[in-house]
Amino acid sequence: MTKIRKYLEEHREEMIDVLSELVSVRSVQNDADGEYPFGKEPARALKIMLEKCSEAGFNVENVENYVGSADFNELEPSLAILTHLDVVPEGTGWSSDPYILKRSEGRLIGRGTCDDKGPAVSSLFALKAVRELAKPLKRGVRLIFGTNEENGSADLAYYRTKRKLPPMVFTPDGEYPVINAEKGMIRVYFSADFNDFSITSGKIINAVPEKCTASYERHIMFWCDGKSSHASTPEKGDNAITKFLDEYSGTYKNPLLCGLALLFPHGETDGKSCGLGFSDDISGKMTCVLSMLNTENGRLKGGIDIRFPLDRTLKEISGIICGSLENIGFGIDSCEGTEPHVTDENSEFVQSLLRVYERVTGDKGHCIAIGGGTYVHEIDGGVAFGAEFPNEGGNMHGADEFVTEENLIRNAEIMAEAIIELCG
Ligand SMILES: [Zn+2]
Repeated sequence: MTKIRKYLEEHREEMIDVLSELVSVRSVQNDADGEYPFGKEPARALKIMLEKCSEAGFNVENVENYVGSADFNELEPSLAILTHLDVVPEGTGWSSDPYILKRSEGRLIGRGTCDDKGPAVSSLFALKAVRELAKPLKRGVRLIFGTNEENGSADLAYYRTKRKLPPMVFTPDGEYPVINAEKGMIRVYFSADFNDFSITSGKIINAVPEKCTASYERHIMFWCDGKSSHASTPEKGDNAITKFLDEYSGTYKNPLLCGLALLFPHGETDGKSCGLGFSDDISGKMTCVLSMLNTENGRLKGGIDIRFPLDRTLKEISGIICGSLENIGFGIDSCEGTEPHVTDENSEFVQSLLRVYERVTGDKGHCIAIGGGTYVHEIDGGVAFGAEFPNEGGNMHGADEFVTEENLIRNAEIMAEAIIELCG
């Protein structure tokens, strides 16, 4: 057992106490309230965390309740470890109070334990372990705690207008080994006049819809069941809207529905029929999901979620999808997104993280490309590093979210080793 591992084992109870205190705050985004840009509770979680860092002897800063930070030493930071203290609402299905940390068979259960309060606690204890046990660092390290990751990351956008981020940034808010590539993302909303009957389907743009119903004067005429999945992995779901269009548009010859049926054949998930269907070697096939189709006040309104390859641009993909929709008679209400994000796999930074991962876990390290966006999507040179281990999901955003005590400690160990490797 390394000295660092031993130190962390000895501080297990202390780590769990800090996590328990953070979990007890329901730090879900709320309306801005005076000096609290995301409501009082995310700011309260941040205050607790900064107090713990300050008690441990690190210099802390609270940037107007958007973001807080703790510095290892007086040097300009070369490395930042980025976590967040806001959480998504509890939802339903919990077997215990989501805001009272429950210890059960090696698991720590509660909202935020895995995403991302647990990793935030691990980062603090990693810093403490390095100070106790390692030679003085040659470079500076900063822990950064955000409060708005779950709702668009306005915290980081603001922080970046006030402070410069160091050249190396990793966020333990994804999975191991290293996520270095994230597809570009576009959300398109479109509509057209439609008074024939009612259609009801998905309400969430980034999920494959599981139900689609057509009704006339409150009598259901037709419905389709599918299977939901995240829009970045549509192959795991079964799109009820495209199934509906496929089965229904032939019988009922409305030009808008027939047009959509041609653009979105059931089972196709890469937008080929819309003129897309691109792929690249690193991130694979693109995805294009018709995720919403609903009638409202005499309009048929739709939504599309697109994740596009690393070598394409927002402008190019937006042009193609909007043109296809306009061709079949729809108007575009909005079309917004982000460019792809890639950090060089062969950079010293990424290679060092992979080495640390291999040394601590004994597993082979490699880079991963994903369709979703992580907390570092807008940060040049940033990567996600942990904190979920392959095949060990903690049910983030779901009921009974958890982190194991072992992984709370192991994450701290990996972060401490990464700090020494990169800044020692
Ligand atoms: Zn998160």
